[in-house]
Amino acid sequence: MQLTLWTYEGPPHVGAMRIATAMRNVHYVLHAPQGDTYADLLFTMIERRSTRPPVSYTTFQARDLGSDTANLVTEAVRKAYERFKPEALLVGESCTAELIQDQPGSLAQGMNLPVPVVPLELPAYSRKENWGASETFYHLVRAMVADQVEQSDAGAGAPSQGAQPTANILGPTALGFRCRDDVEEIKRLLALLGVAVNVVAPEGATPADLHRLPDADFNICLYPEIARTTCAWLKRVFHQPFVSTVPIGVGATRDFVIEVGEVAGLDVTDALAALDSRLPWYSRSVDSTYLTGKRVFIFGDATHALAAARIANDELAFEVVGLGTYSREMAREVREAASRYGLEALITDDYLEVEARVTELQPELVLGTQMERHIAKRLGIACAVISAPVHVQDFPARYSPQMGLEGANVIFDTWVHPLMMGLEEHLLGMFRGDFEFHDGATASHLGSEAPPKPGLVTAGVTAEEDEGVVVEEGSCSWTPEAETELRKIPFFVRGKARRNTERFAAETGLASITVETLYDAKAYFGR
Ligand code: SF4
Repeated sequence: MQLTLWTYEGPPHVGAMRIATAMRNVHYVLHAPQGDTYADLLFTMIERRSTRPPVSYTTFQARDLGSDTANLVTEAVRKAYERFKPEALLVGESCTAELIQDQPGSLAQGMNLPVPVVPLELPAYSRKENWGASETFYHLVRAMVADQVEQSDAGAGAPSQGAQPTANILGPTALGFRCRDDVEEIKRLLALLGVAVNVVAPEGATPADLHRLPDADFNICLYPEIARTTCAWLKRVFHQPFVSTVPIGVGATRDFVIEVGEVAGLDVTDALAALDSRLPWYSRSVDSTYLTGKRVFIFGDATHALAAARIANDELAFEVVGLGTYSREMAREVREAASRYGLEALITDDYLEVEARVTELQPELVLGTQMERHIAKRLGIACAVISAPVHVQDFPARYSPQMGLEGANVIFDTWVHPLMMGLEEHLLGMFRGDFEFHDGATASHLGSEAPPKPGLVTAGVTAEEDEGVVVEEGSCSWTPEAETELRKIPFFVRGKARRNTERFAAETGLASITVETLYDAKAYFGR
């Protein structure tokens, strides 16, 4: 374990909280010391949920350690059950409680409560948040469908002829990146294909909904970090195939539609023809050519980092110069993808290592988490957030998916605009010295009707200077021919040409600048 200022993932019990908080009628009893209740704030302050997570803490203190802390567990479980009357109880421990080895899950199971009790054993010192969420979801699903496992031989598989295919959407959780809106996009795509949604879980589901999971013909694994273990188990036990393409970006959305068609036995030709997004329109536009070859560094959870690399490379013609993830469970996929771009993947959960790589590569755009946003800001590089962990502004009130066609539009806006802003700042820097670009200049469409106000200075150049008036008392003057020649130089570099020529004249002791001086200065500084 390492003490750190920032972390990409919390301990695994925070992952379990993400499942409990996403669901309805589930309660989580967490054996944890006073102070570990901080995790509540992630949901109420960062995600801005209107209710506290459904978690009861045993909140033991130092003085309790001398007595029977196991009693605290059974007492907390009993109270939680009586107060909240959940359909299912999760029982686990935080990092600190793991050390006192009370086995809270087993204690709670021994209480014979009239609802399923799911003990969570999440090793806090070797695993992290997403793994904790995945395990919690998996064990909860297993507990809720346990009574159907026996009869599962007659289970799902391909939908019966003529019946409308049904699917479960698995993986969206609390504190996930744009999960709420992604689910809406997926529902829209499935409606277009004629697939009915059986259950969305864990977000918004109850334990009773989980009990209905085997009714669907197939599953959609929306976020592999969270749902792949569960999807694989449902496939093994209930013969439910699952769709594994994550539809982020135009190409991946098309692949997703094709895969759903294959799994559900549907003809998707019409649906593919109906898909329409503004991202391909942009990629074909003249405007996009300004951004071709932009060097981009990508880091995040594996799902979003992989998707971002494909969009950057295939759909926006950027150059992927760095790719990495903190999701160790999916390191293999990220390594494979990185090698396709001729790169070595950065697999780490140390933000200092990521910062060092960004500093070394000096990309023009960073696509990352809240951490990379800080890193890019410090280095003055354009940045967009593509993955959890995120800050409060990445839970926008407006509809803002990443998946499906609207997701592709949102991604276009989010990635391209920081670069455009970069371009504008670059232009402002270039034109700062020009007489037309200063605080006192009136709009250029007014032309000679509104001449620039004299004497206003921007970046050391006055309107008079550009009209050929003497720059400083005692310095050299320009002949009318030299002035005319100077005006042939594009206006955004004219100020620099004037200053260089005057410097040259001063250094070589010339009192008057002629056309010849102008060209001598150009040759001198161009050497
Ligand atoms: S001990 Fe674990 S739960 Fe407590 S603050 Fe540290 S990481 Fe969080």
